[in-house]
Amino acid sequence: MTSQAQKRLLFEHPYFGDTSALNGFSGNRLDRLSEHRSENSLADALADPAARVLLFAGDRALLQFDGGSARGVFDVATADALGLDRGTLILLGTGRDGPRLAGLVDAERAMPGDVKAVDLRSLALQGLLGQEDTSAVAHARSLLAWHGSHRFCARCGAATEPRGGGVRRECAACGAQHFPRVDPVAIMLAIDGDRCLLGRQARFAPGVYSALAGFIEPGETIEGAVRREIREESGVVVGRVAYHSSQPWPFPSSLMIGCFAEALSTDIRRDETELEDCRWFSRDEIRLMIAGTHPDGFAAPQKIAIARSLIASFAAEEV
Ligand SMILES: [Zn+2]
Repeated sequence: MTSQAQKRLLFEHPYFGDTSALNGFSGNRLDRLSEHRSENSLADALADPAARVLLFAGDRALLQFDGGSARGVFDVATADALGLDRGTLILLGTGRDGPRLAGLVDAERAMPGDVKAVDLRSLALQGLLGQEDTSAVAHARSLLAWHGSHRFCARCGAATEPRGGGVRRECAACGAQHFPRVDPVAIMLAIDGDRCLLGRQARFAPGVYSALAGFIEPGETIEGAVRREIREESGVVVGRVAYHSSQPWPFPSSLMIGCFAEALSTDIRRDETELEDCRWFSRDEIRLMIAGTHPDGFAAPQKIAIARSLIASFAAEEV
């Protein structure tokens, strides 16, 4: 095989399309301007008549409803009228039609009848905005949450200030720069031939089983985290690990990294504090769970979740 043919084969694997594009909160197209920011970036963006602001009341996004359609951005004058706290403003980047900013309003403030604060799960599940706008809302929510919880320097304890329109914070006392963090989470299906391993947490909706998941720890590879989490939560030992797709998960700032893992053992010793149940499901059962017709009422996770993509990919015999 020529090296050209080998390259083609590699990128023709189904996961080298943009599998992540199927996951909720993906598809962010904003140009973050990361290399082109100054201390004037925020003011310049705000002065642009095309600027639009994403507004949040706490962790909920403000949407303006007009009949059946919703909008998630406001011009600057409307944002001010809705109680924008300009001290919280950050520049997300540039969209196709101008700068995109984000900021907080007073969560206690009464809103006009056509403006509602919507939690991000509902916003995505109900498809209230298009994919690009939904992903921008997730971007904004994660970044605003980071600014809200990093007002003081982790090195010396003095107050920090946003810089470059909110791409970092700096400490005037010790000069430390602090950058927004993303928390990687491994989420994975252990596969044993024609069965996959799912678990159920007590907080899940009735009947729902999902992929096992856990935060990746310092000093760990993705594969190491997959093997450790599956072993800790289910007692199952896994060997080879393959990446499937990823997903920004704005609660508040995770990156879900979806993988498949090859089971080397099948006996389950469930972590009882973490999981209410954990079991193997056949491919046929998984298909019924996705269709919502499993005779025991078992169900797959909601469509916006990367776990659903992993499970659907298994059901479609892509793995
Ligand atoms: Zn400091």
